[in-house]
Amino acid sequence: MVERFVAARGVDDPRVLAAMLEVPRHRFVPEPLRGKAYGDHSLPIGHGQTISQPSVVGLMTQRLGVQEGQKVLEIGTGSGYQAAVLSRLARSVYSLERIDELARAASSILRELGYQNVSVKAFDGTYGYPAAAPYDRILVTAGTHEIPETLLEQLAVGGRLVAPVGPADRQRIRVVRRRKTDFAREDGEEVVFVPLLGKFGRTSA
Ligand code: SAH
Repeated sequence: MVERFVAARGVDDPRVLAAMLEVPRHRFVPEPLRGKAYGDHSLPIGHGQTISQPSVVGLMTQRLGVQEGQKVLEIGTGSGYQAAVLSRLARSVYSLERIDELARAASSILRELGYQNVSVKAFDGTYGYPAAAPYDRILVTAGTHEIPETLLEQLAVGGRLVAPVGPADRQRIRVVRRRKTDFAREDGEEVVFVPLLGKFGRTSA
């Protein structure tokens, strides 16, 4: 999967590829769909949500550029797969999920796999998680028209935020870098994510 789909899409950061080789994606996919876990597609995980396509996880993770020792915030835990990949790259990962049951399921798989540096919280991630801010890296894994200000405020100076930004049917991977006095933005590959809902997210699904 990593060679055929992720590297083939241009992901060449050896740390990202190694992290994706290490995490067993099938553990984050519902039993009946496990046979499809290593294809390059998103898959339903219940509650109308999906585990992202491996090549897209690779691209987003590469764009995020997590360095050893960093603290990362993810919005949209979903299955927990992306959080698991991040946990191999960072010192600590906080991941927020608005659907209780998904948060609970992800949390228990992450624990079973021994990924102890991930903490999953069940609540509206558009508020961010001020208790552990600022973050060196923030990854939003749900589509949004605009990046909530609350998240930009929780980004450390010199930090980087990655999010799929655009209308509901297609977004671009946006990379935002926080500099001393302002933010630099750059848009990349086109992707399709389920909507970021919540207080500062999309008003409709
Ligand atoms: N990163 C996930 C896939 C994300 S799917 C994985 O690796 O499997 C997007 C997830 O974002 C869904 O689970 C959805 O419930 C969640 N979500 C949407 N809006 C949210 C919000 N405001 N706060 C937290 N989670 C949210």
